[in-house]
Amino acid sequence: MRIETDVKLDFKDVLIRPKRSTLNTRSAVDVNRVFRFLHTGSEWKGFPLIAANMDVTGTLAMARALGKHGALTALHKHYPERELAEFFAGADGAHAFYSLGTTAADLKKLAAVAKAAPVRLICLDVANGYAEKFLDIVKAVRDAHPEAVIMAGNVVTGDMTEALVIAGADIVKIGIGPGSVCTTRRVTGVGYPQLSAIIECADAAHGLKGLVCADGGCTVPGDVAKAYGAGADFVMLGGMLAGHDECAGEIRWETRDGEKVAVGMAFYGMSSETAMKKHAGGVAHYRAAEGKTVETPYRGPVEATISEIMGGVRSMMTYIGAAHLKEVSKRTTFVRVTAQTNDVFGG
Ligand code: 5GP
Repeated sequence: MRIETDVKLDFKDVLIRPKRSTLNTRSAVDVNRVFRFLHTGSEWKGFPLIAANMDVTGTLAMARALGKHGALTALHKHYPERELAEFFAGADGAHAFYSLGTTAADLKKLAAVAKAAPVRLICLDVANGYAEKFLDIVKAVRDAHPEAVIMAGNVVTGDMTEALVIAGADIVKIGIGPGSVCTTRRVTGVGYPQLSAIIECADAAHGLKGLVCADGGCTVPGDVAKAYGAGADFVMLGGMLAGHDECAGEIRWETRDGEKVAVGMAFYGMSSETAMKKHAGGVAHYRAAEGKTVETPYRGPVEATISEIMGGVRSMMTYIGAAHLKEVSKRTTFVRVTAQTNDVFGG
């Protein structure tokens, strides 16, 4: 047994220190980034935010709505093959990741969709990116889809980030346990404070010209700003994008003062009992659920939320004098505001 005693931080443990700046207005800053991907050589320009590939948020409607802002959506993997092929054949397909796990059926479905339509972005997603087999699958998907940008994860340490980049990932997805409906830290005791994970993995990936996507744990626009400050190239959001018209799921209505009002929508983890019942007929006997189900307030169209997030990031950039999102991490100084992380359970 070993104990690491150096401090590891979460979003709530820091604030971004303001810096002298010549930027006077939010309109003087550019929240878009241009990336050239390591393995494909292709270029992408946009606002580097990704809706999570969860049942509720990874929808076609979300991809259409976020696409208008140059942001992306990782579609959940449960759409039928034909629907995915149709979507990727259309213009909105450029704003979406095709998501999959590592089963033979997942790989077969990807091959079929990619044969029928151009799949430019692939999200290879497993709860635990540390399995050796995962590296082999990343390599196999890289060989089978040389033109596609591959995002693979999740991991939280530099060594595995490097291994994934070398295996063929253009973007490594970072985060084990920080998600708002994730219970991995409670159930298994495993995890890593998210801000430190981003800092360490970004450093490792950037050294090899790879990129990272910070996945999970953002609860307010300021957390998204901190993730960019820590070195995240992309930020993935679940809970912050839940509860909108573009999400999948029933709206719960209540009658208030004689009027019917939309109150809430269900949001659940992809390894929650809700998700496992829906997709696998229940929780398998050898595993425990590592996600929970909550109700998020109903918030109308996602348009207002995405504008609020972009507004927060723009404003942060004026506080630290960064005219382009690319400069943010170089210009970020975090101030530690807590003595030590004591709430380690994330969501
Ligand atoms: P959020 O933005 O809601 O804090 O985090 C979203 C992320 O939580 C997802 O992108 C995914 O990585 C993670 N996640 C989603 N469902 C589950 C789950 O059931 N268990 C765990 N451990 N993580 C989950």
